[in-house]
Amino acid sequence: MDCLFCKIVEGTIPSNKVLENEQVVVFHDIQPAAPTHVLVIPKKHIASMNEVEGEDFALIGEIHKAAQEAAKQLGIAESGYRLINNCGKDGEQTVHHLHYHVLGGARLGALTG
Ligand code: 5GP
Ligand code: ZN
Repeated sequence: MDCLFCKIVEGTIPSNKVLENEQVVVFHDIQPAAPTHVLVIPKKHIASMNEVEGEDFALIGEIHKAAQEAAKQLGIAESGYRLINNCGKDGEQTVHHLHYHVLGGARLGALTG
């Protein structure tokens, strides 16, 4: 499948990983929109939030868990951060493999990632 984030999961496209477990990977965004900007993705290919169904909803919990852990590891847990999912055209989703942005390290104002 021609999916950029599947290639990041496989390691055929390099990424700067923050953490990884059986179900999810967290890595730095190539074009950071905040001092700290990482992406949390499931290893399983799911195109967007619209395609999450059944047992895959457990992955959303895993994504939140990994986001919380990454925020601690990156030192932004105390000061706070934003967790964002962009879905579809109006959400301006550009990579069609489910991902959540973790943005922090500064007051974010109206920034949405
Ligand atoms: P979206 O707009 O789909 O919610 O976010 C996609 C994100 O993926 C963007 O913030 C973009 O900078 C990031 N991105 C796109 N290509 C790459 C890449 O090859 N490597 C990494 N690490 N991030 C990428
Ligand atoms: Zn994929």
